[in-house]
Amino acid sequence: MDLYEYQAKDLFAAHNVPVVPGKVCTTAEEARAAAAEIGGLVVVKAQVKVGGRGKAGGVKLAQTPDEAFEHATNILGLDIKGHTVRKILVAAAADIETEYYVSFLLDRTNRSFLAMASVEGGMEIEEVAATKPEALAKIRVDAIEGCTKEKATEIVEAANFPADVRDQIVDILQNLWNVLVKEDATLVEVNPLAKTPEGVVLALDGKVSLDDNASYRHEAHAALVDNSETDPIELRATELDLNYVKLDGEVGIIGNGAGLVMSTLDVVAYAGEEFGGVKPANFLDIGGGASAQVMANGLDIVLGDPDVKAVFVNVFGGITACDAVANGIVQAVAMLADRGEPVTKPIVCRIDGNNAAEGRRILDESGIALIERVETMDDAARRVAQLAAGK
Ligand code: GDP
Ligand code: MN
Repeated sequence: MDLYEYQAKDLFAAHNVPVVPGKVCTTAEEARAAAAEIGGLVVVKAQVKVGGRGKAGGVKLAQTPDEAFEHATNILGLDIKGHTVRKILVAAAADIETEYYVSFLLDRTNRSFLAMASVEGGMEIEEVAATKPEALAKIRVDAIEGCTKEKATEIVEAANFPADVRDQIVDILQNLWNVLVKEDATLVEVNPLAKTPEGVVLALDGKVSLDDNASYRHEAHAALVDNSETDPIELRATELDLNYVKLDGEVGIIGNGAGLVMSTLDVVAYAGEEFGGVKPANFLDIGGGASAQVMANGLDIVLGDPDVKAVFVNVFGGITACDAVANGIVQAVAMLADRGEPVTKPIVCRIDGNNAAEGRRILDESGIALIERVETMDDAARRVAQLAAGK
């Protein structure tokens, strides 16, 4: 789960990474009041889970509460790279002399953690990495040893931070490492890490990605969940405990087993080329069990996607035999009709594996006109792509 800047900074503060406290507002009136309370120059910042807000006009300085109101009015509702701004952060504006960059991230390729640091902060770090790679220090951090004082010093030296800020940044790096480890994050990033004219170093922006696999260890993280930016179908799938990912095509996909579903996506995309570029609309793995209830939930989710024109149910019977899965499909269609949501889109089924003959017989004799059974995976992919294309 990615966090908003204000949430990232709350975690920073909890681990003694210096930040400027602020107020989260959802209306321009609140922003005016916050600016009045903070007093002096404030910064009004769009809270969206995407970088480059500054360039997009989502970060503005305000001299007065009225100016904060004006900026808030402009920023709220702004579309930044497809993210609509619904919340803003109002904070005392720091005076910036220099902008630095520091981060820790999980480096999957090297099966380790990586620290990155640069005296060229502020701009997007991808740009620094591309145009001036020598300005971006990359230091491996061992997961067991962590970011000790020695390691932090090594990072600070590699990045060539000026002598007057080194001690502060050595402390900040160790505290930031604690954010990564103690909060189970896979990324913590500060850009800019700013130096004020008084020589104080502050985290003015924060990016944190938490490892969802560790959420059970962090009760407090539940409060950080904000689904206002999550796809509504994905949200519902999560509630139903389904492994669903929304894609941008027209063919709804249901399969059992992640590997089978992934290869189904491939064959559908391949077959779809013949029909004007028809593509899979989703990934959905209903897992090994695939009971009627789970199948009904799966069909419900997939058919609930207005982009879906036809559905491909691709099942390989294993421990749950094909007859059980076929019964699941038939019952699922009946269940949806009972619920007042009758299936109106064609469902192409390919079932193979344990007890396939019986499973196929059940589907063939179900009398459900929208179910079309196809023998092989390739033929089924071709047929469903054709149906989705309306041909
Ligand atoms: P991003 O563009 O999404 O990365 O948003 P940032 O929070 O990094 O803000 C973008 C830029 O706005 C920073 O690089 C700073 O130059 C500027 N900025 C952000 N906060 C402050 C602040 O408190 N004071 C001043 N003077 N500038 C700020
Ligand atoms: Mn930034």
